[in-house]
Amino acid sequence: MTTTEQAILTEDFGVYKTLLESTRAIPWKIDWATLRFAYIGPQIEELLGWSPQSWQTVQDWADRMHPEDREWVFNFCVSQSQAGIDHEADYRALRKDGEFTWIRDVVHVVRNDDGTPNALIGFMFDISERKRTEEKLLNMQRELEELSFKDGLTGVANRRRFDAVVDLRWREARDARQPLSVVVLDIDYFKQYNDHYGHLEGDECLKRVARALAGIVRSGDDLLCRFGGEEFVLLLPNTDAAAAMALAWRCLDLVDKALIPHAGVGHDKRLTLSAGVNTLVPGEGDAVLPFIGVADSRLYKAKERGRHRVVAEG
Ligand code: GH3
Ligand code: MG
Ligand code: MG
Repeated sequence: MTTTEQAILTEDFGVYKTLLESTRAIPWKIDWATLRFAYIGPQIEELLGWSPQSWQTVQDWADRMHPEDREWVFNFCVSQSQAGIDHEADYRALRKDGEFTWIRDVVHVVRNDDGTPNALIGFMFDISERKRTEEKLLNMQRELEELSFKDGLTGVANRRRFDAVVDLRWREARDARQPLSVVVLDIDYFKQYNDHYGHLEGDECLKRVARALAGIVRSGDDLLCRFGGEEFVLLLPNTDAAAAMALAWRCLDLVDKALIPHAGVGHDKRLTLSAGVNTLVPGEGDAVLPFIGVADSRLYKAKERGRHRVVAEG
C-alpha cells in the first residue's frame, strides 16, 4: 500500500469513526472467540452512565440488564448468533444510577468462511420514549375497554358486559352442573317519576337505585348491570332458586331502605322495585335468551299483581 493509499484509508477511517460516534444509535463490536467487546461507541456513557472502558465482556452486557429480561435475551442472542442469524432484542438496560432504559439491540453476525461466527456487530437504540408511548396507549386502551363495559349514567356494568359475561357463566354452570340464577328488576311507576320530578331528577334517581343495589353483589362472580332504561339485572352463578329469591327480596329491601321519595304514586310515596327470578341448571336443550325471557315474564306478573314484589314461578 502506498503512503497516499494509507492516508486516504486513515482519512476514511476518521470519517467513519466520526459518523459512527455522532449518531444517536450506539455502535459496538464483540469478538466471538473471546466474547469480549472490541469496541463500543462513546455515546453509551451519555445514555447509561457506564464508561466505554467498562464494557469489557459479554458478561458485563448481561449483568447490565434487567433481571426479568436477562435470561431470555441472553439465550436468544447466543442461539441466534451461533446459528449465524442477524437478530434484534428489546430489553431494559441498567443505568449507572440504578434506573433502567429500554434498548433495542440490532445485531449482525459476521461469519467465517465455514459459517461459524467471527464477530457480532450491532447498534443499540434508545427506545424508552417509544416504550413510554406504547405503555400510555395500552393504558388508554385498557381504560377505554373498561369504559365500554360500564353504564355511563350509573357506573354499574352495562348490557354489553352482561352479554359478554352471561355466555361464560352459562357454560360454566352447564359444565359444573350448577344452578345459575337471574333476577330482572324494574322500577315501579318510573314514567310518573319522570313526569313528576323531571328527567334530570329521574337520572339522579337511577344513580341512587344503582348505588343501593351495588350492595347486593356477594363476590366477583355476581354481576349487577343496567340492562337498559330503568331495568337492572342481577346474574348469580352457583345460586339456587331459594337463594336467588332471597337476594331478589333483598334488592327490593335495599331500595326501600334508600327512602327515595316518589310523590307521584307508589307505595308509601316511596320508590319501589318489582322483580322476576329464574333459576336453571343449564342442559343441552336450554338457551340463554329463553332463560332470561322467563325471568322477564315473571317480572311482568309481579307488575300485574300490584308491583313491589318478587315472582319466581309460573
Ligand atoms: P312499571 O311500574 O310498569 O314499570 O311502569 P314504568 O312507568 O316504570 O314503566 P315503563 O317501562 O313504561 O317506563 C319506563 C320509563 O323509564 C320510561 C322512560 O322515560 C324512563 N327512562 C328510561 N331510561 C331512562 C333514563 O335513562 N333516564 C330517565 N330519567 N328516565 C328513563
Ligand atoms: Mg318500570
Ligand atoms: Mg321498564
